[in-house]
Amino acid sequence: MLIQQKKNRKNRWVGLCSKGEIEMKKVNQNRLIQTFQHLVEMDSPSLGERQVGQFLAEQLTALGLSVSEDDAGIQLGGNCGNLYCHWEGSDNGGKEAPLLFSAHLDTVEPSRGKKAVILPDGTIRSAGDTVLGADDFAGVAAILEAVRTIAEKKLPHREIELLFSVAEEIYSGGATHFNYEQLKAKEAYVLDLSGPIGNCAYRAPTIFAFTAEFEGKSAHAGFAPETGANAIAAAAKAIASIRQGRVAESLTVNIGKIEGGTARNIVSDYCLVQGEIRSNPHALSVEQYEKIKNHFTKVAQTFGVNVSFSHQIGCMAYETPKELPVVQRVKHACEACGIPFKLIETFGGSDNNHFVRHGMSGVVLACGMRDCHSTKEQSHVDELTRAARLVVQIMTDVTGDSTREKEAEGRI
Ligand SMILES: [Zn+2]
Repeated sequence: MLIQQKKNRKNRWVGLCSKGEIEMKKVNQNRLIQTFQHLVEMDSPSLGERQVGQFLAEQLTALGLSVSEDDAGIQLGGNCGNLYCHWEGSDNGGKEAPLLFSAHLDTVEPSRGKKAVILPDGTIRSAGDTVLGADDFAGVAAILEAVRTIAEKKLPHREIELLFSVAEEIYSGGATHFNYEQLKAKEAYVLDLSGPIGNCAYRAPTIFAFTAEFEGKSAHAGFAPETGANAIAAAAKAIASIRQGRVAESLTVNIGKIEGGTARNIVSDYCLVQGEIRSNPHALSVEQYEKIKNHFTKVAQTFGVNVSFSHQIGCMAYETPKELPVVQRVKHACEACGIPFKLIETFGGSDNNHFVRHGMSGVVLACGMRDCHSTKEQSHVDELTRAARLVVQIMTDVTGDSTREKEAEGRI
């Protein structure tokens, strides 16, 4: 319930929670942190998410949600599929537009035997030899705690859909195999972003992976080097003469792996080069890839070496318009919770790239993770709490969308 409306033309949805509402929508911090620790202690590498999936399915079923698992695990060679959960809206909130919340179940390596250590200042880190897994158990824990809080306190809420995806860390494998036709929601909130709570990513890049295979001719390096064609030499020159790093404001190029040759006394007949291009918009990646292909081919020819290419588009760039309800709802919820709202661009991919590609409007929300994909990964008790609180606020935003528009126009 909004008891105060700020008179601000730009922020027409601004509302502050009443004291009673703040109290009602408080999450259970102890339960949240215990859940987070429990999640962290479960091994859940990409394609090995079964234990976590089982835990979540049990918890959410007990809370009254219908839970189903798809066959993404089978298709990808993993042991768990995507979990899709549906929660009917409450009597006084069920008529509002349904919303989708999502987080992924897998964590990057090193991840076996993780333990969450809570420091006196509230910082949560791993024991030091594994990642923490806040990416993305922070998101999973926030969503679960929000549902528990709303169910326990019987708060009015919208119709909610949840998608817990598998294999996100390997090019969004689960999200790629998910059947989007079953979704009712048109708005997606993906909890999978580092940085302060209130950060909301509305723009993300294409991730374009490519492989170049240089094929030369082997020869004895001492007896007959002139009869060979050195694939490593060709690849080295080709790589050295392209620009890498931030090539333009919204365009990065990286050669991340090379592999080739057989022995030090043999002119190498093969060299594999793997790289990645990121850009927004998508067309920049395609353009850059063509440039790299042409350049590699020309260089290889001077060595008498052939080069062949293959590529894979990991995800497609998107930009969610800032004025859409999916963005405005987060802004409004942050203001109601006293959390600074910040729209940001990210240069990382997420399942949201796939949601947008399937016609949804989506954003990625910070949920309490820092220094991800490293053994220094951290979270914080306060951040996890704020993330869960923010999810509660969005789920329980049952002021009718149409009513709100009328309010903003001063018609009510
Ligand atoms: Zn993630």
